Amino acid sequence: MENDCIFCKIIAGEIPSCKVYEDDNFLAFMDINPAVRGHTLVIPKHHCRNLLDTPDNVGAGFYPVLKKVSLSVKAAFRAEGIYMFQQNEPASGQEVFHSHVHIIPRYKNDDFGKHNPPRLKVEISEIAKDAESIKKNI
Ligand code: 5GP
Ligand code: ZN
Repeated sequence: MENDCIFCKIIAGEIPSCKVYEDDNFLAFMDINPAVRGHTLVIPKHHCRNLLDTPDNVGAGFYPVLKKVSLSVKAAFRAEGIYMFQQNEPASGQEVFHSHVHIIPRYKNDDFGKHNPPRLKVEISEIAKDAESIKKNI
């Protein structure tokens, strides 16, 4: 529990939330300011700032919970697809600094917006250099 963390307070029940799933290590609840109906958040109970500092043993449990909640959201909202996003640090849009993943029901003709950004034209030799830079930092 981190002082002044909204999501830690939700976990502790100090702030009300519309919970949809809870186990020993994770909680899923409705986003209070939803982008679409059914917008759900999944968080680890262990406080961490975002994916970049999530301990591996916590991260390992995330995927099955995301799958379980996504399938439930998809069924409940008769969605045709699920869009998931997760932001790390303010430069990426993160506003609440307790690790979380957004789950959004999507439909073929919905107006949620296109989330495939415009693509750059980059030579394969340059892309290969980018790969080398990343590999050096793994
Ligand atoms: P971020 O921008 O950090 O990826 O997303 C934070 C999300 O948390 C936002 O979508 C915002 O609407 C949601 N949020 C912020 N405060 C609360 C709250 O007190 N309760 C709930 N349920 N959601 C919140
Ligand atoms: Zn927290």
